[in-house]
Amino acid sequence: MHKHHIALGLARPVEAATGHDIAASFDDALGIAQSLRPAEPVTLVRPHAAARAARFFAEKFPGKSLYAVKANPSTDLLRILWDAGVTHYDVASIAEVRLVAATLPGATLCFMHPVKAEEAIAEAYHLHGVRVFSLDSLDELDKIVRATDSASDLTLCVRLRVSSEHAKLSLASKFGCGPSDARALLFAARQAADALGLCFHVGSQSMTPQAYAEAMERVRLAIVDAAVTVDVVDVGGGFPSVYPGMEPPPLERYFEVIGRAFESLPVSYSAELWAEPGRALCAEYSSLIVRVERRRGDELFINDGAYGALFDAAHIGWRFPVELLRGEASRAKLMPFSFYGPTCDDLDHMSGPFLLPADVGAGDYLEIGMLGAYGAAMRTGFNGFGATETVVVADEPMATLYGGAVERVASNVVKL
Ligand SMILES: *Cc1c(COP(=O)(O)O)cnc(C)c1O
Repeated sequence: MHKHHIALGLARPVEAATGHDIAASFDDALGIAQSLRPAEPVTLVRPHAAARAARFFAEKFPGKSLYAVKANPSTDLLRILWDAGVTHYDVASIAEVRLVAATLPGATLCFMHPVKAEEAIAEAYHLHGVRVFSLDSLDELDKIVRATDSASDLTLCVRLRVSSEHAKLSLASKFGCGPSDARALLFAARQAADALGLCFHVGSQSMTPQAYAEAMERVRLAIVDAAVTVDVVDVGGGFPSVYPGMEPPPLERYFEVIGRAFESLPVSYSAELWAEPGRALCAEYSSLIVRVERRRGDELFINDGAYGALFDAAHIGWRFPVELLRGEASRAKLMPFSFYGPTCDDLDHMSGPFLLPADVGAGDYLEIGMLGAYGAAMRTGFNGFGATETVVVADEPMATLYGGAVERVASNVVKL
């Protein structure tokens, strides 16, 4: 975390080294822009939004929800999710294992990276009590057996390769074993495991529940083909959030489709259903205030970018909702802008388009929304930029998939 206290006598850091540096609490982004006039980006966090998402999954997903820590490893967020009922955590590195074990001593950790260092497996098992591991090869199975001294209390989840065609971000090439290898691996893992699982990932921001139905068909074929008993079916992550131009069906639809597909599996009477939501649990948790340092036509030079919290906006063209923060709302028409970030290279560019009033200019503050997932987590200090304060706010995120709340910036979220 980069620390830099707001120099207005308000600095009141309350978190330990791995947590956010929470300086103060305000009602909303406009209040912060007006009273602090921050010269550097400010991260806003909305604990109520993360807690609402966690309760939604805890109450409505027809199985167990593991939070995928990589989406946002903030220790504040981990505690919020824990308090809202998330007891299981999907971790992918030994650093994530240590972080969650230290932050939430009661949590159950599941090491769901299919290619791990043997030392990481050993430390996770012997020191941190991790019993759940994923794998997609016989080599990894050997590694797990060696590192745990042939433990008899393992839950081993075999990762199947499934299509990412319905997702905005593919996870189809790197991991997962194909149909021809699954039988031998399931058979071998069954011998080594106390409990055997099957898992997959349909790709991030999956825009239709059909993706899960198709993947569950792969699970069914794998179970039938290998003729093994399966104790866990884990449908992974990929649950969407809402962004401009990406409005998925309600999450309840995903849960229904998954629930029905699970019930039709030959093992449903004895197996547990799991999911590993990352994005869906934390996208609404945070947003960012940036300042426009220069305008050049329809290009805005802002003070955060590709090396900050806007990696996805730059590198995969993700569009986030934006709002101009002015005490008196602009009456100018909305027009499309692109952004340049603060570093010195052309890569630090976000094509958007981002819709803002036509009179936006240098000195204006903007709020960029829906950055809780894969935003804050990717920030670097490249080129001397990247310092950010974290401030708790009580207002609604710019958009939500969790009902009840209004869509604050409907014009930004609905169309373009
Ligand atoms: C990244 C990841 C997740 C979370 O994915 P989202 O699309 O953010 O829900 C879950 N499981 C695994 C194995 C992952 O790699």
